[in-house]
Amino acid sequence: MRISEGLHSQGEIPESCSVLVLGAGMSGLSTALELGERGVRDIVVADPGPFTGFEHRSRTPNTVPLPHAPSWWRSASPHYAELPGVTGPLGGRSRCWHGVLLPMSRRVLERHWPNDTTDRLLAGGPGSYRAVMRELLEWQRASDGPRPDRTLDDPREELKAIWPDLSLETVPQAGWSVDGPDGRLVWAYSPLMAWARRGLARHVGLDLPRVVSGLRAISVQVEAGSVRGVLLATPDGGVREVRADVVVLAAGTLENTRLYAQALAEVGDTVTRWPGLNDHVSHGYAIPLPSVLAERWTRSDHRFLRSDHEDELNANLFMEVHAAGLAAPVLDLWWMAQQEEPFHDEIRFDPPNRAASGGNTAWAGQVTASFSSADEEKISRRDEITGKLLEALNVGVAEERGFVDFEPAAQAALATGTAHHYVSRLGTTDHEAGTVPLGRRLDFGGRSLSVGNLFVAGPATFPTSGAANPSLTILALAAHTAEAVTGDRGNPSP
Ligand SMILES: Cc1cc2nc3c(=O)[nH]c(=O)nc-3n(C[C@H](O)[C@H](O)[C@H](O)COP(=O)(O)OP(=O)(O)OC[C@H]3O[C@@H](n4cnc5c(N)ncnc54)[C@H](O)[C@@H]3O)c2cc1C
Repeated sequence: MRISEGLHSQGEIPESCSVLVLGAGMSGLSTALELGERGVRDIVVADPGPFTGFEHRSRTPNTVPLPHAPSWWRSASPHYAELPGVTGPLGGRSRCWHGVLLPMSRRVLERHWPNDTTDRLLAGGPGSYRAVMRELLEWQRASDGPRPDRTLDDPREELKAIWPDLSLETVPQAGWSVDGPDGRLVWAYSPLMAWARRGLARHVGLDLPRVVSGLRAISVQVEAGSVRGVLLATPDGGVREVRADVVVLAAGTLENTRLYAQALAEVGDTVTRWPGLNDHVSHGYAIPLPSVLAERWTRSDHRFLRSDHEDELNANLFMEVHAAGLAAPVLDLWWMAQQEEPFHDEIRFDPPNRAASGGNTAWAGQVTASFSSADEEKISRRDEITGKLLEALNVGVAEERGFVDFEPAAQAALATGTAHHYVSRLGTTDHEAGTVPLGRRLDFGGRSLSVGNLFVAGPATFPTSGAANPSLTILALAAHTAEAVTGDRGNPSP
């Protein structure tokens, strides 16, 4: 069934194409659009997720059942229990992200990333932070209707009086948060909106790549050291091969790692342990807000604030007031920090016997993740800072209870009148990254150094993550990958 121009459901896929992108999420759709802009035709994007609409899903319940996570994945710890990115609707997590746009710091880029990538991200042309940020904020301005809760009020003066040392800036978002009947809702950009003609200005009039839902990639087929095509599981339980000149892996970090590991094995390099996996460490306090501050802050258009602690703590401190759907306003005061290096988390694969499987089955993958002692130490250091803020607010702290997320902590805070500490499990921030890094496994454009015409997109390619949320970097890198595929900028080694 054709849903809109270029968008198809239920496995309507041609027998061959020029570029096959695996994954119709943030990185896959953006890379496909960048390729289309550079004149590549015959692009197909395949994704197992069902089409559930173009708009942001925010917290609206999903009325269309999602496919189950594939049986080949499991987690060996409480972390990564929900296997981020492995299952989702068409559009992936671009349909539910919060639109926060933060560039990776120059210090992190210069220390760990290939020079070419760093130069390009920090310059001003296509594929730079500045260019991507500018056009997303323009998209937001063009899409933003009248907002009932918008006022010019700004609580930062009062906050400064309480926390004089903190720099407080509003968080740049490719979207906006509003109060809904059941809580605070977020609406943000998705590259999928291009197929509804509500995407970025430069995508208006573009011959849109073909996106097909209901197809999960099992493995990349390799012949004479280069990609030949991809084996895809179809909705009726069958399997079919689609030939392609170029394959771009954009299936989220976990599946990208598996598909890349299996492709490497096809050229005789069987790697079963993939270290470098990292997610952001998210922890904070749900705080019942004193009424003077609550009143001004809830009315304000500056309800989502950030204090930058990248240099000393590799972290950002965020603050957002939640009032809708709650008995009283609650301040969410949380840190988003990089896991401490070296990263100990890894993905391990268990390749099936090749003679029995014919090389055409998915490898079993297991994620093993935990906080290191350095992570625990940094969590305590950051909590000391936020503890001082709580003292200034004159709010007591309830006992810590292991892993909790904001929502239950907020309910507990309101019930007891005390701040509740929470530490989220790894894999719940959905910023998992780092297993197939640029400059090591890939060149600076995401091209495989081992398998011809194979590319990897998305945060799996980040050499390190820094404190910034990943999507601004994902969107910028989509242009780099498209240029590497089309050879626009040559392709020297990193
Ligand atoms: C609630 C929430 C809020 C967030 N807020 C922010 C934010 O404010 N700022 C920010 O920077 N980031 C944010 N993120 C993170 C951001 O959404 C992700 O980092 C980003 O979407 C990852 O892009 P991706 O393309 O790697 O994965 P995804 O967008 O998840 O896309 C992966 C796609 O691959 C498909 N797929 C999986 N397996 C296969 C397979 N075998 N074959 C083919 N396709 C496959 C999936 O169905 C999916 O559509 C948020 C995430 C969540 C969940």
